Amino acid sequence: MASRHKLYKIDYRTGRIRLKNRVCPKCGRVMAFHREPVPRWHCGYCGYVEYVRKR
Ligand SMILES: [Zn+2]
Repeated sequence: MASRHKLYKIDYRTGRIRLKNRVCPKCGRVMAFHREPVPRWHCGYCGYVEYVRKR
């Protein structure tokens, strides 16, 4: 079983999402996670966006 989908983990008890820190491949800074309208990681420094694939 691959674990590539483990970008974040939902805690069903509290309803919160636990994020794993993700580093921007371009500038090396920590990226921010946005759920809406689609799950994605966004780097506020250089504008890099990486979409999260569900499954
Ligand atoms: Zn960046």
